[in-house]
Amino acid sequence: MTPPTYNLWTIGCQMNEADALRAAALLESAGFRPVPHARDAGLLLLNTCVVRQQAEDKIYSRLTYVDELKRKNPGLVVALMGCLVGKNPREFAGLRERFPCVDLFLPPSDLAPLREFLLARGIAAPLDAEAEAPPPPLPDSMTGRSIVAHLPVVLGCSHACTYCVIPYRRGGECSRPSAEILAEAAALASRGVREIILLGQIVDRYGLDRDGEIHLPELLRRVAATPGIARVRFLTSHPRWITDELISTVAATPGLCPYFEVPVQAGSDAILAAMRRGYTAAEYEALIARIRAALPGAGLSTDMIVGFPGETAEQFEESMALMRRVNPDMIRIAKYSPRPLTYSARHLPDDVPETEKERRRVAMEAQLRAMLTDKNAPLLGQTVEILVETIEKSGRRHGRTPDYKPVFVDGSAAAPGDLLRARITWAGPFSLIAEAL
Ligand code: SAH
Repeated sequence: MTPPTYNLWTIGCQMNEADALRAAALLESAGFRPVPHARDAGLLLLNTCVVRQQAEDKIYSRLTYVDELKRKNPGLVVALMGCLVGKNPREFAGLRERFPCVDLFLPPSDLAPLREFLLARGIAAPLDAEAEAPPPPLPDSMTGRSIVAHLPVVLGCSHACTYCVIPYRRGGECSRPSAEILAEAAALASRGVREIILLGQIVDRYGLDRDGEIHLPELLRRVAATPGIARVRFLTSHPRWITDELISTVAATPGLCPYFEVPVQAGSDAILAAMRRGYTAAEYEALIARIRAALPGAGLSTDMIVGFPGETAEQFEESMALMRRVNPDMIRIAKYSPRPLTYSARHLPDDVPETEKERRRVAMEAQLRAMLTDKNAPLLGQTVEILVETIEKSGRRHGRTPDYKPVFVDGSAAAPGDLLRARITWAGPFSLIAEAL
């Protein structure tokens, strides 16, 4: 009998990617084999993101294609997963009506319906849903990328940023038990994973919603102590919830990478207040200064939204100026789009024209490129440590520095998972090239 096949299509954040890999692993442990093209698959797994309109549009065009495939092959099973599906089963009916080609709806971070489906079809999935059960293995199809694994530690979010749909799609904040997380970390290490990235919408809040649970600094220390794990990161941080204890833990603990993802979203205090972020631009700058005082070489990544309702050209310039002062290593720039149910969509007119949003995005992107060109230039000639993740067709090794800069390494015979030292020979704004030492 030929094994059943599946094809995975996924978009969105690291949490989504982690969810998708778990679903893929469950399918593979039940005997499914991955195929690169949807047209060759017996089961399609579509993992969705709705954080911006652009992401949602991508899903609809993909579903149009999937619908065509299903017309040609009525036996095709279509599983729709993630934030478009959401947590509320009452909404599934509406989705079912809109997308009759979908057979199976999977909420974010929830594999139970997939297990039930496999059981109903008489396909044995060896893992049970017990909390103590080991995590699904990394799917075979992903072995090329299995040096780094994302490990969700806080699911959902209970913060009410006015623009953000995540609480409505992923539900309220819920930390996972640390025992479960540590067992997973050990299981990942035993499969050759060398770097673990702990995930949460506000990862700094880990454990605060569970009585008697350890908090993020202790969790990080324990994950970093897992035999075989060389590097540990965590994201995303919220400026209100990062603690000095967290910063000093990163500074003091070998294996915890000096890297922080701290979205700021805007440089104008009026816009930050309208977003209900809970801090001012000056407080953000002070936080970054504390991080850099403790960890001078720390990498910093942030997020910016341009064109939030009511954002004037002057307020946008405040975002530009804040970024020049903070000088981060990466900015993920998004044009505001209203999301269903959010406060801003319901109460604040989306009044910055699309052309003006695009102008602001392009201006910030150009400033970022110029800033990173200057910032990375002094790296030329420096020696860095790289964890090799993949080998390019050209033979170059690809990996990252502890502060998360992507590097391509020439002249190395290192295997994925090896740590190597290399000297930077070219420094561009978005990547580096190095020669192995
Ligand atoms: N929990 C994280 C981010 C989650 S969403 C945080 O605290 O910020 C990832 C990014 O998408 C956000 O940082 C924001 O920059 C962007 N984003 C979220 N909602 C958006 C919207 N309605 N329009 C445009 N960008 C948005």
